[in-house]
Amino acid sequence: MTDVSLVGNTPFIKLSDKLYAKFEAYNPSGSIKDRMASYILARAIKDGSVRKGTTIVEASSGNTGIAFARLAAKHGYGCIIVMPRNMSSERKQMMTAYGARIIEVGDNAFKDAIKTREELVNNFGTYWSPRQFENPLNIECHAETTAREIAFEVLSIPNRLSALVTGAGTGGTIMGCQSYLSKLWSDAKFLLVQPAESALCHGIQGINDGADFLVDKRLIDEQLVVTTEQAKLRSEALAKDMGLLVGISSGANVLAAERWIEENNPTGVVVTFLCDRGERYLSAQRAMEA
Ligand code: PMP
Repeated sequence: MTDVSLVGNTPFIKLSDKLYAKFEAYNPSGSIKDRMASYILARAIKDGSVRKGTTIVEASSGNTGIAFARLAAKHGYGCIIVMPRNMSSERKQMMTAYGARIIEVGDNAFKDAIKTREELVNNFGTYWSPRQFENPLNIECHAETTAREIAFEVLSIPNRLSALVTGAGTGGTIMGCQSYLSKLWSDAKFLLVQPAESALCHGIQGINDGADFLVDKRLIDEQLVVTTEQAKLRSEALAKDMGLLVGISSGANVLAAERWIEENNPTGVVVTFLCDRGERYLSAQRAMEA
């Protein structure tokens, strides 16, 4: 059994008149990735691809690694996470605390991390990978859990969805939400947050890992660009002004959504995500001025 009951059903909080956020930091390892990890692992345990003696191997910028490291510890599996060297030290410490082994590749080198993961899985019979960057269950998970929860909350306000705003790492969140919510609200917009800097040097950890992966750009209405500096400042302000200590991608999401609301004055509500806890970025935040 996986602990699906601890995952998801996160708080839906009002940030301003038209802006709401799913507070994904409330998941058991502190990020939205607990959803995908527990969903895919439950399926793999059921179909027998994960069993006693399995080692879970995944390429991750950190949050997926933390989520699987926790699940591996809970169920007694091994866990190896392949990750770019420049991801925050707090994330690496968390994985190690759950007993996972970390293999590092170059700064922001996600493609290398995926290549190393494949080599490991192909060479060791007891290694299994959820393959988050290409697994359709990643999208299915968000359609079945995240999007349904959002639909319930928006209908309960009661209101309608004008737009969903989020950055993409794998793209599982935005594509899963798009597939479910666009059927309920056919004119809702699905807006992708993108770092202004290139994939190789931006600092909005967890999004834009160098390829589109599961994102189908034909289903995205607009891309909203945010600089790393703006994302960090907005996430710092969320902590100071609203008591929400969340990660850098959450700052990017909220800022992009606020700008879009300002420019488009939607009639319904806009939903975004506070993807993870802020503690895991304290070493990466800008030095605060006195
Ligand atoms: N924000 C953060 C902090 C993340 O770690 C991730 C996942 N890497 C995302 C956003 C994007 O989620 P997804 O993989 O579902 O696109």
